[in-house]
Amino acid sequence: MNVQAVVKQARAEGRTLLSEVEAKALLFEAGVPVARTVLATTEEEARTQAAQVGYPVVLKIVSPDIAHKSDVGGVKVGLKDKASVTGAFEEIIANAKNAVPDARITGVAVQHMAPAGTEVIVGMTTDPQFGPVMMFGLGGIMVEVLKDVTFRVVPLEERDASQMIDEIRGKAILDGVRGQPPVDKGAVKDAILKVSEFVATNPDVRELDLNPMMVYEDGAIAVDARIVIAEPQEA
Ligand code: ADP
Ligand code: MG
Repeated sequence: MNVQAVVKQARAEGRTLLSEVEAKALLFEAGVPVARTVLATTEEEARTQAAQVGYPVVLKIVSPDIAHKSDVGGVKVGLKDKASVTGAFEEIIANAKNAVPDARITGVAVQHMAPAGTEVIVGMTTDPQFGPVMMFGLGGIMVEVLKDVTFRVVPLEERDASQMIDEIRGKAILDGVRGQPPVDKGAVKDAILKVSEFVATNPDVRELDLNPMMVYEDGAIAVDARIVIAEPQEA
């Protein structure tokens, strides 16, 4: 999968939001670690794919009309066997149809469930004046309530990425509080730089979020990915 092909297909379908499956495939190719994710259009397919990506798995709604999947009951985590995948598939589709009756439903994303870690957000927005700008912060309430995020204009150098990681107010959480080990800042820095490179070489990409990326003592992995491309007339 290359970016041009995915962009072309999305435009042909009249959408600017790439699916989570498409976004993760492109990021994987760009060298960003992502949870293994595939699209299922039937329940049977979901069961086969769950065995392939490896239990435990997470199932999520895939719809160009639904950007915030949890808000509509479109995310089921911690599925440990075939039976729970079957139930979750049906429930997710029903929840989505119920919350957004006109939503186009592409299918369900089946993905490996990453272990719990420190959740961070790595993102990009396009500023009308500066162009692509990278964003970094802690995930969850830290970003939603405390707006503890930091920005740098693309392209980034290694130093920029390191500084971003060290200048958020919640930095102590990354350094390890109350006897917790520090997280792998090198893996976070690498992800920030890879995303910066990806957006710098792909100007059709206007917004990007890895929210969250799980970070561990050793390594990091994005479990959600969202990419918005330019409207055809802006490209
Ligand atoms: P939303 O569209 O609501 O942002 P997410 O894909 O971020 O949906 O899923 C909601 C939450 O579920 C995430 O913040 C994360 O805590 C958890 N989650 C999602 N996917 C995975 C996964 N593959 N492994 C582990 N946890 C996950
Ligand atoms: Mg998310």
